[in-house]
Amino acid sequence: MINNSLWLKGVKTKAGKKITKDIETDILIIGGGITGLSTAYFLKDKKVTLIDKGKIGLGSTSFSTGKLTYLQDSLLKGSKQKEDLYINAQKEAMELIKNIIIENGIQCNYESNSSYLYATNEKEKRKILKIEEILKRCGIAYKVKDNDNLYNSIYSIKVDDTAVINPAKYILALKDLLENKIDIYENSFAHDFEYKDEHFFVKVNEDFTIKTKTLVVATHYPFLISLGLIPFKTHIEKSYIVATPIDKNKKFNAISEGGDYSIRYYSDPEDYFVFCSCSNKISKSMDNEKIVKSIAWELKSRYNKKVKYVWSNCDIMSPDLIPLAGALDKNIYIATGYSTWGLTNGTISAKIISDKILNIDNKYTELYNPNRMSNFVNILNNNFQNGKSFIISKILKNYSFYKGIVEVYTENGKRYGKYTDEEGRAHIVYNTCPHMKCNLIFNTISKTWDCPCHASRFDIDGNIIRGPANYSIKVDK
Ligand SMILES: Cc1cc2nc3c(=O)[nH]c(=O)nc-3n(C[C@H](O)[C@H](O)[C@H](O)COP(=O)(O)OP(=O)(O)OC[C@H]3O[C@@H](n4cnc5c(N)ncnc54)[C@H](O)[C@@H]3O)c2cc1C
Repeated sequence: MINNSLWLKGVKTKAGKKITKDIETDILIIGGGITGLSTAYFLKDKKVTLIDKGKIGLGSTSFSTGKLTYLQDSLLKGSKQKEDLYINAQKEAMELIKNIIIENGIQCNYESNSSYLYATNEKEKRKILKIEEILKRCGIAYKVKDNDNLYNSIYSIKVDDTAVINPAKYILALKDLLENKIDIYENSFAHDFEYKDEHFFVKVNEDFTIKTKTLVVATHYPFLISLGLIPFKTHIEKSYIVATPIDKNKKFNAISEGGDYSIRYYSDPEDYFVFCSCSNKISKSMDNEKIVKSIAWELKSRYNKKVKYVWSNCDIMSPDLIPLAGALDKNIYIATGYSTWGLTNGTISAKIISDKILNIDNKYTELYNPNRMSNFVNILNNNFQNGKSFIISKILKNYSFYKGIVEVYTENGKRYGKYTDEEGRAHIVYNTCPHMKCNLIFNTISKTWDCPCHASRFDIDGNIIRGPANYSIKVDK
């Protein structure tokens, strides 16, 4: 079993340059995922600098399922106006991506196909019937289907104009395209900034400063709490995705209305079936091995297939499941809260932000406004989820699934985590996340320390793999 994303199979990246001195730019984009690179693409004629804390192409985008679809779960947004605007935004994003691919001859296994949205129970069916009303209002043709390929489906609808890609290849091609047009730096970690004299001064890698008039934070989860107070508005969901070789690619993708299952096919050149199960509140299960075993079991019993690739991904769920993207204040922008649909939403957010910078009107600005008033009950619910994760992480120390290879203990008031590797070497780290002080849980699948509250991830020696945490959990020797 390969513990990595199928999209990164055989993908080679050139080593990029790193920030080694103070610099000045007009527009600084932090984050080289689909959002940051698309923003840079739309602004490529300006003086733009893009930095990423690691190698470009290893963020959430490359760990998604790579679907470009407007037929999503949770399309019901509470008002007709929002629903219609949202679905049009997704369609526009798909068109933008397709045009970028065609205009630049990008090889990213783009394949148009059909999408199914299916119900496994009456409650989901009622929701799909309401979604049909949105499709009718927006003049989108669909078919009602009973499809045997969709396990346990009692009702489904199908549209024909959706697509799938290899998302890692897409963003790495964007990076290659932009390399001669803008300045791109890798291994350049932004951890703080201050604003004075109408400029942002962004601290990078402890030693260097980037001065910029305009700042775009496209780090998936904003790297400072002050940027939109995102930890208090959102919660995180996490899923595992598996891929298995098959005899023949089928040209469709599907998602269950409850968001519990998502499937697609892929050819490169072998054919694969890709299966994503159980979009979970991050606190629901700490035992990653158990989750993967249950998905492997589902794959075996439903499709008689064995797991070849396995990977996980997290996304930030906004209170109304509409992204929080656009101007936070004068000349500072964020884009987050994609609620598991960040390939289309990252692209349209990039368009909203770049249009604002270029003084072009964009009809989605208000819908995505990151400062909008959100539904209070949903915010309360998100805080409840985060609070629950925080409390669980504080109460529990040593889980049975650690099976003796991991020990969590307290010494002189500090909590430590010790992982003993296959060679018997002990790796000791602080067990508290520097972001908002949740305690970390060891992930026995990826061999990482994961934050159950906001999904920061650290390697066994305490280096940050994924934020929002800005500091490592290394123990000073
Ligand atoms: C299971 C699952 C499946 C999904 N499948 C789909 C799908 O099929 N279709 C779809 O539309 N969406 C999907 N999504 C959602 C999608 O993966 C994300 O919403 C989207 O990729 C986010 O893009 P991004 O550019 O914001 O973030 P990323 O791709 O994570 O890019 C952010 C970049 O910022 C960098 N960074 C972070 N912090 C710093 C810092 N402090 N300094 C410098 N750089 C920094 C990171 O290294 C990273 O490269 C899925 C989500 C999940 C959980």
